[in-house]
Amino acid sequence: MHHMTLTELAKGLKAGDFSSRELTTSLLDRIERLDGEINSFVTVTRDQALAAADTADQARAKGESRPLAGLPLAIKDIFCTQGIRTSCGSKMLDNFQAPYNATVVEKLRAAGMISLGKTNMDEFAMGSSNENSFYGPVKNPWDRTAVPGGSSGGSAAAVAAGFAPAALGTDTGGSIRQPAAFCGITGLKPTYGRVSRYGMVAFASSLDQGGPMARSAEDCAHLLGAIAGHDLRDSTSVARVVPDYLAELDAPLDGLKIGLPKEYFGDGLDAEVESAIREAIRVYESLGAKVCEVSLPHTHLAVPAYYVIAPAEASSNLSRYDGVRFGHRCDNPVDLEDLYKRSRAEGFGDEVKRRILIGTHTLSEGFFDAYYRKAQQVRRLIRQDFMDAFEEVDVLMGPAAPTPAFDLGAKKDPVSMYLQDIYTIAINLAGIPGISVPAGFAGKRPIGLQILGQHFAEGQLLNVAHQFQQATDWHRRHPTDQETT
Ligand code: GLN
Repeated sequence: MHHMTLTELAKGLKAGDFSSRELTTSLLDRIERLDGEINSFVTVTRDQALAAADTADQARAKGESRPLAGLPLAIKDIFCTQGIRTSCGSKMLDNFQAPYNATVVEKLRAAGMISLGKTNMDEFAMGSSNENSFYGPVKNPWDRTAVPGGSSGGSAAAVAAGFAPAALGTDTGGSIRQPAAFCGITGLKPTYGRVSRYGMVAFASSLDQGGPMARSAEDCAHLLGAIAGHDLRDSTSVARVVPDYLAELDAPLDGLKIGLPKEYFGDGLDAEVESAIREAIRVYESLGAKVCEVSLPHTHLAVPAYYVIAPAEASSNLSRYDGVRFGHRCDNPVDLEDLYKRSRAEGFGDEVKRRILIGTHTLSEGFFDAYYRKAQQVRRLIRQDFMDAFEEVDVLMGPAAPTPAFDLGAKKDPVSMYLQDIYTIAINLAGIPGISVPAGFAGKRPIGLQILGQHFAEGQLLNVAHQFQQATDWHRRHPTDQETT
């Protein structure tokens, strides 16, 4: 049961093989037994989960049949959950209980899904390894000496370890796709605006997007269908009909045009990752796809542009944590200024402080044109690269990350950590969707294939990913409990 997909679990519930309470109990017990070592959860909500499971079982007994009802999942601790701590991986919000639910949390509840708890993450979603969490690092269930990726590392590890069949993540520069790749699961970053950001703690508002992390593209299709859609409470969510993502999954790939961006196969790409990706491309050719090389000429500017824009937005978003309205407050402030300074100095970790400093600097008078405006111009060029490429091909493919999961503690220098994002960050700058699917291993450590599409082409990405998963079994592999324990 621990490594079944949502789709399989839904069948089991329907057939009466097990109840939602039995399923939920077994996952909660497994978390209790094994997560001490992995550290994928910050908060486990046992009582609420079991109560919700009972409600789902009762509804089922009365004949009700919503497809996701009674299925558990884990929620990244960036989504506000009423009455349950939402820490965002930070000491600043260690004591924060949101008075309301994020829209996606509401939508999943309305679909009858059960939250097992809140998952660990890099503080305020800043990081690529989950080592920036106030609650300590998460270990990769495939190899405990490796990071799970970040910032949605807890969500990815929880799915890989068999603690939850699926999880919610967020992706500002790669935080769904890169941990999905490192943990051997499937993770989709939707088009900017496809999923409401209401109640999602803001990092970089023009880049942040929530999305599903699961064991298959089919499961991601189920979840995306449940969470996508216009939300009057998020003015950047797009009023556009949510298609039936499941209906598109089985379309044949005959004649699909795949572009391989040459910039995604250059220096810095690990040889084992490259050969796994090239092998995956051959699978697509055998399914009838046509492959050609394309160019995204401004790729080298994506990381620098992101590390101007994201910190600028973060410095502005994080100004709300002042020790007065939210979260941590220092002891015995002597005056208001002391309250602000010490609350923020104590509440934020080093990486968050670094970004606030950079962002405040680049937005300051005299530097704004040189950095922020320039970065926005570069962003436009990066977006145009993708638009030009999609004139020639249907989807783009490449690695999700330049290397497999690296060792815990291996990247001490922030810039080497930032370079983890070279293949994911441009996608957020352009606002397009991307999915990472398991495509092999380097030793024990999984490798992810990234597939990119045009704005709102999630259905196509899920179809292309699903067809690969019909032809391969990388997504069916899971770490043994020995590795997990
Ligand atoms: N690793 C990137 C960063 O540190 C992206 C994080 C994310 O997508 N939330 O900003």
